[in-house]
Amino acid sequence: MEFIDIKHIGKTYGIEDGTTSTVLSDISFTVKKGEFVSIMGPSGSGKSTLLHILGFLDQPTSGEYYFDGKNMSTYTPLEQARIRNDRIGFIFQAFNLLPRTSVIDNVKLPLAYSHVPEREWDERARTALEAVGLSHRLDYPPSKLSGGERQRAAIARALINEPDLILADEPTGNLDSESGTQVLELIDELQDRGHTIILITHETYTAEYAERIVQLFDGRIVSDTEVENRHRNTKLKK
Ligand code: ADP
Ligand code: MG
Repeated sequence: MEFIDIKHIGKTYGIEDGTTSTVLSDISFTVKKGEFVSIMGPSGSGKSTLLHILGFLDQPTSGEYYFDGKNMSTYTPLEQARIRNDRIGFIFQAFNLLPRTSVIDNVKLPLAYSHVPEREWDERARTALEAVGLSHRLDYPPSKLSGGERQRAAIARALINEPDLILADEPTGNLDSESGTQVLELIDELQDRGHTIILITHETYTAEYAERIVQLFDGRIVSDTEVENRHRNTKLKK
């Protein structure tokens, strides 16, 4: 069985007036360890809902989700929270950093719920921030950083527990194109370091950092195709 294996996932919301709204229908796909997959689709097609299910932030209403060979529905919410903290790193469009807490303390946050002993936190956080080029901003609050720096801090935080899986939801949505490119190149490098990456975007340009693009439309998969990582090719040519 593949690392990520979802079978016939559906998500239906009950609405207050008693009707229901189906956001995802019959979604099936697999992701191999170390793969870089983009999920692409227009606004409202169900991308974020799918990412929340993949990260155990939300439950599907039908279908099955196998994470590393185990059916997620067999875990208690507490066990799911532990796997989420230890094995999954999240990168969001809005960065989700604490604005008045220093960058280094933001990056240490996921360690508080991990098995990593406290005496190692500082070293780990410094290493993660060095990897994203923020060693000179350790004591800055995110409110004093540029958008690109904030997202790099959020990536350092996502990496701090050395997750197997990285889930990124429109990570460049709030960035200018230059800092967006930096962030995408950083995410691309994470794959080289062995992380599995699922990147959500509505832009073809961004999706093409991956090796495979899964297209969503109205909550259904309409295509699932291998692509060349165009940006990687241009990098190699430089
Ligand atoms: P995307 O990320 O592709 O823009 P979303 O997954 O955020 O799409 O949303 C897909 C659809 O699900 C939208 O039509 C949205 O209004 C609907 N939706 C999302 N969350 C809820 C909710 N809690 N209750 C009802 N509908 C929701
Ligand atoms: Mg979304």
